Amino acid sequence: MGSLPLVAIIGRPNVGKSTLFNRLTGTRRAIVGDEPGITRDRIYGEVEWQSRRFELVDTGGIVPDDEAVIPANIFKQAGFAIDKSEAIVWVVDARAGVTPLDEEIAVLLRNTSKPVFIAANKVESKKVEDEAGEFYRFGFELMPVSAEHGTGVGDLLDKLIEELDLSELAAVGDGELQKPARKRGRYAQLYLSDDFSDAPRDKDVDGVALANARASAISPTDTIHLAIIGRPNVGKSSLLNQLLGEERVIVSPIAGTTRDSIDTSLAADGRDFVLIDTAGIRRKGKTTEMTEKLSVIMARKALERADVAILIIDAVEGVTNLDANIAGYAVDSGCSVIIAVNKWDAIEEKVTNTIYQFEDKLRQQMKFLDWAPVVSISALTGQRVQKVLPLVAKAFDARNVRIPTAQLNKFFEDNISQPKGGTAPTTAKGAPAQLRVKYITQGGTRPPLFVLFTAGGNKGGLHFSYLRYVENRLRDEFEFFATPIRLKERRKAAASAR
Ligand code: GDP
Ligand code: GDP
Repeated sequence: MGSLPLVAIIGRPNVGKSTLFNRLTGTRRAIVGDEPGITRDRIYGEVEWQSRRFELVDTGGIVPDDEAVIPANIFKQAGFAIDKSEAIVWVVDARAGVTPLDEEIAVLLRNTSKPVFIAANKVESKKVEDEAGEFYRFGFELMPVSAEHGTGVGDLLDKLIEELDLSELAAVGDGELQKPARKRGRYAQLYLSDDFSDAPRDKDVDGVALANARASAISPTDTIHLAIIGRPNVGKSSLLNQLLGEERVIVSPIAGTTRDSIDTSLAADGRDFVLIDTAGIRRKGKTTEMTEKLSVIMARKALERADVAILIIDAVEGVTNLDANIAGYAVDSGCSVIIAVNKWDAIEEKVTNTIYQFEDKLRQQMKFLDWAPVVSISALTGQRVQKVLPLVAKAFDARNVRIPTAQLNKFFEDNISQPKGGTAPTTAKGAPAQLRVKYITQGGTRPPLFVLFTAGGNKGGLHFSYLRYVENRLRDEFEFFATPIRLKERRKAAASAR
């Protein structure tokens, strides 16, 4: 297999992997059969695009369509792709929507720092394309394609070439994580110093905009449901105890809606919280593996009911795969997320830079959470624990924000209707856009949802990167602290359309 960079196609059966493989490789397809170490369920080919070449492998080649072996096989595919490839194309069936197997794949793919592109396949109508937006929540770049008709495939190739270029330059050693040139998401604000305001929600960074916006929506009497999540031993119970002990305003424990968790209500700082205790399950007599599984199950359960999640990471051990799994569920849930790096007391020889270095690494491993702030704490000594609930309240307020129409219209005028250099909407096909965003409205809160109404252009719809631009501008303008933002495109059918 020469020295060409390798791109792996993965995905569940029947989504169109082989069709895409054939489309990408064209006549260059080369099946490598019986070489040692290469099993026959992987098919290799070469792709040439814009005078660049890479090698492509379809990891799901010849596998029986047997329900029982599918998950195991996907595990294998993903493992191979994560280990051996420079970039991953995850093919999904946009017509079928997100399936449980896709959820599993998403979890696996979050464990890699390698670039992952979702090829949302079988997009041959506007309706299906809208539905493909559902996959956006996995946090990877999404490209609507039709492997059968070839639409969107050029864009996908452009992206791959762009990505590989960088990894080629950087892949001197083992390649993994060595991607200095990669564009990273913009980091959310980092909280590390003790001079951080104790009442941040009264001093929002962007001041006026948020203050005005909030006035229309927030009722401070709302109870904030808070989940403390994380893998075993990161310090969930310790933080819970600290929070309760510190505030000393415990109302008695009340029964949770699930049997295994005890909710505790707590009034602090003029706000009402309900702490959903995911540490409720004790691990005595359980295996490590079982405890780990339980931590994920408990996190998912708690996230269902929570507004805000504190995701605890162990500062000493760093981010593990399990952390990333749990973080992924937090993103999917639509909760606001604050990342607490705990056991900060146990880090020896800290220098000013230490938290930045830690954060930098953490961000690489959890790219999909780039809007979540990081705070370093010690649940043991109580260091900075008093920062936590104010951050939670601030996150809660942000997710409830409803931007007044006048402000949103101004935002539209400034950022969308008169695009500045390079920020005009492009279609997914990359064709010169007659595509226009007509207006933007806020469709909901918790988390904030914005709808972009578009018209004109070809079938492509708004490009992922354009949505990203709008999201970033919204974040700059309105400071959706610690909160995911959902964007939706709604397309007005062209007059000529049937
Ligand atoms: P794989 O099992 O993931 O490799 O999927 P295949 O490539 O074998 O495709 C599964 C089915 O989906 C086949 O019937 C294909 O004809 C169909 N298919 C693949 N790509 C497309 C597409 O872009 N549009 C439509 N409508 N069908 C497709
Ligand atoms: P949980 O399983 O996530 O609920 O974790 P626990 O709260 O039970 O804590 C697991 C272990 O980590 C216990 O031995 C705690 O004493 C220890 N621990 C928790 N927080 C800290 C901290 O901030 N610093 C240090 N050094 N140890 C901590």
